[in-house]
Amino acid sequence: MPVNRDTVLDWMRGFAGEMQEHRQELVRLDTAIGDGDHGTNMDRGMRKALERLDGAEQADAGAVLKTVAMALVSSVGGAAGPLYGTLFLQMGTALAGQEEVDLAGYVNAWRKGLEGVQMRGKAEPGDKTMVDAIVPAVEAMEQASDLDEALRGAAEAGERGMLATVPMVARKGRASYLGERSKDHQDPGATSTYYLYRSAAEALSGEG
Ligand code: ADP
Ligand code: MG
Repeated sequence: MPVNRDTVLDWMRGFAGEMQEHRQELVRLDTAIGDGDHGTNMDRGMRKALERLDGAEQADAGAVLKTVAMALVSSVGGAAGPLYGTLFLQMGTALAGQEEVDLAGYVNAWRKGLEGVQMRGKAEPGDKTMVDAIVPAVEAMEQASDLDEALRGAAEAGERGMLATVPMVARKGRASYLGERSKDHQDPGATSTYYLYRSAAEALSGEG
């Protein structure tokens, strides 16, 4: 499937659906090591995003992602709103004006998104955050030789990255206040990020 305005719209609808479906799971994970709002935050933010996407026509894939970014920043408080906002804004900027996005363009957008998240949140791999899902996914995409392989590789690597947060001690965000007690819990932000890769594989892959 080509990566373009319509398929990226499908991707965002799919991600919103995942956030609705997994809201309770994300709340439960965030209750263990944070304040319990990650699921409601992401569900509310993505509902807002869909409202805005339905309210006006987007010129291209980049514009779709920028619209999502603005909706998240304005409707989600806490850490995840601005971080996901930055991710989608940087990706959208990287894709601006491209009617059809190829493998290199898609992977470059993810690299730029990751850089934005790290610039904003200062998290490194191993700090038990969404960065732990994004870094291995981007690395997998950079090794891929076609888009389907990139999408599948990102979902697999993102899932591994998510699971790898379990034994980590949080060094960023609210969970870091718990110190060693943050161990043995899966990071909520890395979990929502895994759903972002899973929904991308479903919406953008020609295999789907
Ligand atoms: P808050 O922590 O403000 O309640 P959320 O619960 O919505 O916000 O989001 C928590 C998630 O945000 C964490 O699980 C983690 O993945 C991510 N996060 C927090 N701080 C950072 C950071 N500095 N860099 C990257 N991700 C972060
Ligand atoms: Mg929270």
